[in-house]
Amino acid sequence: MKIGTIASHSALNIISGAKAEKFKTQLYCRPDRVPFYKSFGLEDSIVEIESFHQILEMDLSDVIMIPHGSFVAYIGADKILNSELRLFGNKELLRWEADRNLKSQLLTEAGFNVPREFRSIDEINAPVIAKTHGAAGGDGYFIAKDADEVKDKIDESISYSFQEYIVGTKVFVTYFNSVAKNRTEVFGADIRYETDADANLRFDDSPSFVVIGNIPLVLRESTLAKYYDMGAAFVKAFQHLANQTLPGPFCIETIIDREQRIYSFEFSGRIVAGTNVWIPYSPYSYLQFGEPIWMGRRIAIEIRELMEKGILEEALR
Ligand code: AMP
Ligand code: AMP
Repeated sequence: MKIGTIASHSALNIISGAKAEKFKTQLYCRPDRVPFYKSFGLEDSIVEIESFHQILEMDLSDVIMIPHGSFVAYIGADKILNSELRLFGNKELLRWEADRNLKSQLLTEAGFNVPREFRSIDEINAPVIAKTHGAAGGDGYFIAKDADEVKDKIDESISYSFQEYIVGTKVFVTYFNSVAKNRTEVFGADIRYETDADANLRFDDSPSFVVIGNIPLVLRESTLAKYYDMGAAFVKAFQHLANQTLPGPFCIETIIDREQRIYSFEFSGRIVAGTNVWIPYSPYSYLQFGEPIWMGRRIAIEIRELMEKGILEEALR
């Protein structure tokens, strides 16, 4: 059995982790990126392909594929859901993530404090962030202080959702739900840094939310304990609503305001790029395992343990 992924996003994290756990690996790589990945000593993992879509036509029955942010961005949620790919993670959760209504249903079921959604412009009575559907990394978003400003800024040909704008610190917390160990682990936290919403000096009022990268964050321990409870509640809520287990990595995307209220506006049911800041380990994974465990390696350990218990197939649904 091999572990594979497409060469982008968190591929270095995933492939290096699988190698550390002695798995054979496959890194599906477009020609222009081959020198880059080779420079990390990954030549024996590289499978050169012209386009990421090609993985849908290949026989990958001996590969456990680790999905990351580029799968949906470059191939599309529908195509992945309908494919024969053996994904580590829950395909159903991907569907919930791709659908705004299901997404907020899950966040609410988990008992999270979520920003208010306004169904129409006339309902808007607070500053809002207008989100385009299926946006790649915040592209096309805008903020507005009231309904009039929304009317000025809106592009009539695009459909938006309007969410209350929360002023505060963006805190992204990643977790690992281990089926093999029957426990939810809090893995690490980071701050997503976005141009130019996070730039201090600006001369216009339409910041871009395009992601530049991530900055490691160590939370106050009392806050971390709250996030631990949130992670456990999220796993339970998905179990309750979808009647399915959530195996492996996930992330809850939040903003903490000045009253220290935590607002959850998003989740990802897979590895997120924010975990790249915690190679070779996060403070929490180090405390849990006593050795360097980064997210790619954590995934590989789980796969091995599930194989040993004979229950891997359930995690690949
Ligand atoms: P890339 O690896 O830059 O080709 O990005 C692939 C997809 O993942 C795009 O949709 C990006 O917006 C998203 N992405 C890449 N890095 C990050 C990050 N650090 N945080 C959030 N999204 C990311
Ligand atoms: P999303 O596409 O939902 O992940 O949002 C992209 C970015 O927009 C986030 O990383 C935040 O910087 C910002 N954002 C999203 N929702 C809110 C909100 N309700 N209040 C303030 N900022 C937000």
